[in-house]
Amino acid sequence: MSTYDGRFMLKPKAGDTTSRERIILDVRTDDEVMIIRGDDQGKKGKVLRTIPHKRQVVVQNLNYIWKHLRRSQQNPQGGRLHKEAPLPISRVMVVCQSCGEPSRVYRKRKDEKGESLRGQRFCRKCDGPVSGKGK
Ligand SMILES: [Zn+2]
Repeated sequence: MSTYDGRFMLKPKAGDTTSRERIILDVRTDDEVMIIRGDDQGKKGKVLRTIPHKRQVVVQNLNYIWKHLRRSQQNPQGGRLHKEAPLPISRVMVVCQSCGEPSRVYRKRKDEKGESLRGQRFCRKCDGPVSGKGK
C-alpha cells in the first residue's frame, strides 16, 4: 500500500508495486552501463530491462544466476535456468556516449534557446547528451 507520511516522503518506497506515482530512473533500457561494485566491478553491459519500483536493472550477460525450476506440467523434470539476475541501480553507472566514461546523469528542463528538453539526459562529466531509446 502506498501511504503518505510527511513531505519528506514524496516518492513511493522501493518495492511499492501499488503506487501509481511514476518512478523515473537515471538508467534506461538499452543504455550501456558499467558495474561499479561487486563481483562484476568494471564490466560493461547493455540494460535489458528496468524494474523501477524495486530500483533494479537487468544487465545483459552480467550477474548470472541459476534459477531452479519446480517440476510442473510444462517441464516434468524441473530444471535450472542460467539467466541474468536484477542488480540494484546503486551498483551501476550509465556510460556516456560522448566521453565514453561511466558518469552520473542529470536532466534540464530547457536548453539555452528555451526549447523543451523533456526526457533528455546529460553527462555530469562532459555535459554531452546521453541518449537512450527506452524509458
Ligand atoms: Zn560524458
